[in-house]
Amino acid sequence: MIIQKTSSSRLESFDQENYSFGDHFIDHMIICEYDNGKWGEAKLMPYGPLSFSPANMTFNYGQACFEGMKAYKDKDGQVFLFRPRKNFERINKSAKRLAMPEVPEEVFMKGLKVLMDVDRAWIPYGEGRSLYIRPLIFATEEGLKARVAHKYMFAIVASPAKSYYTAPVSVKISDYYSRSASGGVGFAKAAGNYAAAFYPTQMAIEEGYDQIIWTDDATHEYFEESGTMNVFVRINDTIYTPPTSEKILDGITRDSFIQLAKHKGLDIRVEPVAVKTVLEAQKNGTLKEIWGVGTAVVTSVFKAFGYKDQRFELPVLADEDSYALTLKKALVDIQTNQAEDPFGWRE
Ligand code: PMP
Repeated sequence: MIIQKTSSSRLESFDQENYSFGDHFIDHMIICEYDNGKWGEAKLMPYGPLSFSPANMTFNYGQACFEGMKAYKDKDGQVFLFRPRKNFERINKSAKRLAMPEVPEEVFMKGLKVLMDVDRAWIPYGEGRSLYIRPLIFATEEGLKARVAHKYMFAIVASPAKSYYTAPVSVKISDYYSRSASGGVGFAKAAGNYAAAFYPTQMAIEEGYDQIIWTDDATHEYFEESGTMNVFVRINDTIYTPPTSEKILDGITRDSFIQLAKHKGLDIRVEPVAVKTVLEAQKNGTLKEIWGVGTAVVTSVFKAFGYKDQRFELPVLADEDSYALTLKKALVDIQTNQAEDPFGWRE
């Protein structure tokens, strides 16, 4: 790997108390270019802009996919990645679906390790703190013919993240828009999936909600995901989450929650979650919690949901009675090396 370090770190001038998620970047980034049917040598270099023509194929045809993952620092300054090989596998699933070249494991894993090593001082330590890491692959070829590009870049950039805390949110169950469809790209972290979700999300915000619970495109009768998170519903003491499919992103936090819940002996079922079932549970008082899970905030607790023209408030539970928060704490303790890791998730 080519190593080209910056001569002037920005860390000293970075205000570690006042910044918002995703706005500041560590000193370095990794890039690796694909051309003539193969990946070149990866390079660590100072973080900064790259130059591309407006005729770049990513801008026009959207061949771009990405990952979201985190590194944590423990009290002794040791650094851990959380299940990084799952992100490696997933970026290549996404790449494959978008007819892009898969990135070699060596480039992905070594890139992460070298970047974490060189910019170790940027990795925040403390409650809720982590380094959010964004690996991505995108077309770099200039050309307007609508076809698969021949040139790509793999890059890793990273941004300090300060807090997991997010106030409980209200969500709108979609009865019209979809984020994915059968035969589509819902299971991929394709950049275009996010672009397509912004407008319906804006509509939901205008109606007074924070995000959308996406339902299946064919009938809108079943939950799929929530915003950019996987979704869990608790009815009485049973937790439900929809099975993954070609329409649902196979979230790493989701998988971790399922394993942790089983480990704790909770009753968790991976099965279709019908809107009707949730509405009935709400009516008869057995609906206890709905929450979303994802790398960025780990868990987002829902306080209310909307369906058609009705809004329903969810019960307010003490932290220790909430499965969402109990599982979140158990997961964060493993991620930050404050608990045993029986699953071998820290790397
Ligand atoms: N669904 C979507 C659409 C997402 O963008 C994300 C965030 N990556 C998730 C679910 C959660 O996935 P993970 O737990 O791997 O972050």
